[in-house]
Amino acid sequence: MQIVDHEVYMDLALQEAGKALAKGEVPIGAVVVNPEGIVLGKGHNVIEKLGCQTGHAEVQAISKACKKTEGWRLDDCWLYITLEPCFMCLGLIGLSRIKGICYAAPSPQFGCINILESMILDTHWKQVIVLKGLKADESIGMMKRFFERARGENNRERAKRISRKGSTSLTREKDGPVGSDRSAAKR
Ligand SMILES: [Zn+2]
Repeated sequence: MQIVDHEVYMDLALQEAGKALAKGEVPIGAVVVNPEGIVLGKGHNVIEKLGCQTGHAEVQAISKACKKTEGWRLDDCWLYITLEPCFMCLGLIGLSRIKGICYAAPSPQFGCINILESMILDTHWKQVIVLKGLKADESIGMMKRFFERARGENNRERAKRISRKGSTSLTREKDGPVGSDRSAAKR
């Protein structure tokens, strides 16, 4: 597959990530493409919707590709992902016989490619061709937008809680001196 093709399919994966972003999910997208360049399956992160970690974009895209081809073998297919895959998804990639993966941004927290490359093991997973960093800036930009928005929402929630607490403590402060005055008056 040519570099230009990789870019076209990564754009599709980024479009999928955009769909996740629009739904309030962490923006991650994935696309399975066969050797003829036909898209077999597209998917985006739906963890919040499913309430389960099987909602990873790769799982969605691979499931759809298997459904379309009516088989679990995705020999010679490529998977385009906007983020470095986790161990669960790399397991699925290897088991599905995917030939190569191309991912955009690294995932320092859950990504497994760098860990795996540092391991001296001769496993099937290590035979998967890996291309890194294609359109990483676009993927990272979308992730930043998601987490900035999420942080904004958290801050607004926190501000609301603080203002609610603030009004309670103000009431108490108001009650306090009155009570003290009363007890002082009794004495
Ligand atoms: Zn995953």
